Amino acid sequence: MTEDYRARVRAWLAANDPGPVGGLPPAEHLSAAKRFQAALYAAGFAGITWPKEWGGQGLGTADQQIFAEEAAEYDLPTYPFIVNMGMCGPTLVDLGTPEQKSRYLRPLLSGEEIWCQLFSEPGAGSDVASLQTRAVRDDGGWAVNGQKVWTTNAQWADFGALLARTDPDVPKHAGLTMFIVDMHAPGVTVRPLKDMSGKAPFNEVYLDDVRIPAGAVIGEVGQGWRVAITMLGHERVSIGSSRPSRSSALSFDAVLALARRQGATDVPAHRERLAGLYAHERALELLNARMRQEAQAGRPPGARGSVAKLAGALQLRRAIEVAGELAGAGAVAWEPGDRHGDDLALGINSAPATGIAGGTNEVQRTIIGERVLGLPKEPQVDRDVPVRDLKVGTQRTEDPR
Ligand SMILES: Cc1cc2nc3c(=O)[nH]c(=O)nc-3n(C[C@H](O)[C@H](O)[C@H](O)COP(=O)(O)OP(=O)(O)OC[C@H]3O[C@@H](n4cnc5c(N)ncnc54)[C@H](O)[C@@H]3O)c2cc1C
Repeated sequence: MTEDYRARVRAWLAANDPGPVGGLPPAEHLSAAKRFQAALYAAGFAGITWPKEWGGQGLGTADQQIFAEEAAEYDLPTYPFIVNMGMCGPTLVDLGTPEQKSRYLRPLLSGEEIWCQLFSEPGAGSDVASLQTRAVRDDGGWAVNGQKVWTTNAQWADFGALLARTDPDVPKHAGLTMFIVDMHAPGVTVRPLKDMSGKAPFNEVYLDDVRIPAGAVIGEVGQGWRVAITMLGHERVSIGSSRPSRSSALSFDAVLALARRQGATDVPAHRERLAGLYAHERALELLNARMRQEAQAGRPPGARGSVAKLAGALQLRRAIEVAGELAGAGAVAWEPGDRHGDDLALGINSAPATGIAGGTNEVQRTIIGERVLGLPKEPQVDRDVPVRDLKVGTQRTEDPR
């Protein structure tokens, strides 16, 4: 049965791989990615473990794992849907109302609609609960004002999961609410932000008097922190379990190929580092496989998702070091048109973000210490203080309302 499934996945991927589309102009890239996601959904390979009722396949994590293994052989254009699949979708499955699930989950899975996650602000990243975007009740719904930053895929997004403050009179974790915001609504402005690779994968998002209907609350009013923790848990598992495709310049296979091109595989020091890289990559795969099996058996990863997230980020850092040593000057200068040089530079410039996005490595270590290992909690002087009495982030001295 399992081998049948693998054969079906393998045949489908071979027949439907759109090839490299990353180099296309943004609009063409997006169209190609949407066509691929729609085909993936139609073939029953999107939302493999999600409930059938909401457009998923209702299969187990073993099938998901088989698909991930086979897909790693390709460079598939799934980037526009990472927030759909890894964060907003699973959170709606867990906590959305039946109306929200029936309205949003199918187009989210098929790639027809793209989602983004509006949490971080200029003054609230690691300490996201101190955010200042305000939602006030207005005409039966809500009016939202504020600014978000580092919003991945907002340039393409149709909807966002927005964490906003609905009550400044209570401590910071207590007065938050999660909303679904229409990214095409009046008052939403998206401005691209470039990273050091020269691409603009994330954005600033300004919200000026944006109207949100009452039915767009995910979970309960005032319970946004619980929803945020659910989404961050999914995000950490998703980031931690996504390994570089074999074609990525930082996978073990690619670094080994680089060593072969450099004639370095007989040098003991390089062999030792390559073996270390391989061992860590394999350990990470096994860790992720175990977490998937445990989730299947009814034990969700919870805070242990931070272990996978941290281990994945550290593995990329390790790969950067080994690949950088092997490439030498070739890691910073290469002949025009040298695909290996382009890929390695992009990998080296992009990979450090994995140790920041979804919570930095330092934050993951704190979560692991406190919630996995049961160590004493870090002191938090502001935990029980009403937000209006705090001087945090960009908040000025005037009344935040
Ligand atoms: C590629 C990428 C994509 C992203 N996409 C999104 C997105 O789609 N939506 C979204 O909302 N956000 C997104 N982010 C933002 C991301 O969640 C934040 O950058 C992250 O949470 C860190 O916040 P910060 O940048 O404000 O850094 P800060 O919180 O200011 O941290 C600065 C430094 O201080 C350290 N630090 C902070 N607090 C502690 C502590 N208590 N203990 C120890 N060290 C600490 C941090 O580890 C870090 O090294 C993205 C970021 C990146 C890089």
